Amino acid sequence: MEYRCSLCGKKYPISTKEFRCSCGGFFELEVENIFSKEELEKRNHTMWRYREAYMLPDNLAPVTLGEGLTPLVKRHIQGFDIYFKMDYMQPTGSFKDRGASVLISLVRHLGIKKVVEDSSGNAGAAVSAYSAAAGISCAVYVPSYTPEGKLSQISLYGSKVVKVPGKRQDANDAVIKAAQNAYYASHLWSPFFPIGLQSSAFEIWETFQGKIPDTIIVPVGAGGDLEGIYTGFKTLNKFGYAKKIPRIIGVQAEKCSPIYRAFEKGLNDYVEVKAEITVAEGIAVQEPPRAKAVLNAVRMSKGKIVAVTDNEILSALKKLFTMGIYVEPTSASTLAAWEKLSRSEQDGAVLILTGSGLKETEKIVKLFLS
Ligand SMILES: [Zn+2]
Repeated sequence: MEYRCSLCGKKYPISTKEFRCSCGGFFELEVENIFSKEELEKRNHTMWRYREAYMLPDNLAPVTLGEGLTPLVKRHIQGFDIYFKMDYMQPTGSFKDRGASVLISLVRHLGIKKVVEDSSGNAGAAVSAYSAAAGISCAVYVPSYTPEGKLSQISLYGSKVVKVPGKRQDANDAVIKAAQNAYYASHLWSPFFPIGLQSSAFEIWETFQGKIPDTIIVPVGAGGDLEGIYTGFKTLNKFGYAKKIPRIIGVQAEKCSPIYRAFEKGLNDYVEVKAEITVAEGIAVQEPPRAKAVLNAVRMSKGKIVAVTDNEILSALKKLFTMGIYVEPTSASTLAAWEKLSRSEQDGAVLILTGSGLKETEKIVKLFLS
């Protein structure tokens, strides 16, 4: 098991403490193994039932909080059956637990005692929770202007919060510096995040008993979820478990859409954009490091990237609330995008709902009740 640099092809063992190649490229990891279909019914009901596909050492003990196996809920909307993947129903309230469980399991297996991360959102909470479960100390670097309320889940898990004065970029620089003395458990850079997120695809395959949906709609910030879901279907296809790969449609907020703009222009890497505040905070990533892999996944699956406005997101969110589904605004971007698709793309689509509304109640109250 080795990483391969996406730029120069140089190889690194997965035990490396580096988070990217010395040339600046991100690491890739080929999936060369899959679980046995016959074994599945004997296995526990977490995403670890698919563990062979995570490319981890055989003797590794998982750090688990019961993540994965989230429900797929069917609803009839505007004449079509569509499916909501309730991926916010996870230990920390977001899909990020899939990536964090796999990455922190590796970290503990390597004997590492200290990690750093730089997200004040769902990824920060997930890495903090799994570090706590593993007995690993965790420090999360955030810009000093981050509201206290956003950090409460992270600090309650016992992570140290390091507030960095200046812009978001200064927090990035600070975490990279700190990574010289600690392992950078990065949801943005580590290929083990998308490797763990494959499980979402495996669950859709298992729930549909091997029948693959035509369209999957995923929110895209850094694009880890999209890359992971595509990789999962590619793995199923490679080992003969699935005949096709669904078209994967990524959604960005129009106010911060570096990957959407690259897709529209036919480019292979993200386009530089100005940072504007959007209600879909979870997908506002200005400089997504793995954008090349995300754009490649979209094109290989014959999908596309769609951009939606804040108004479209809020109207979709309201619709979800009235259906009894309480998610954060970012998740509603999938339904907003679905509304803009052709009828053939809409029919039978699976929409990934990534984060719980309970995490953003304060913001939701401001938007809808004041
Ligand atoms: Zn390289």
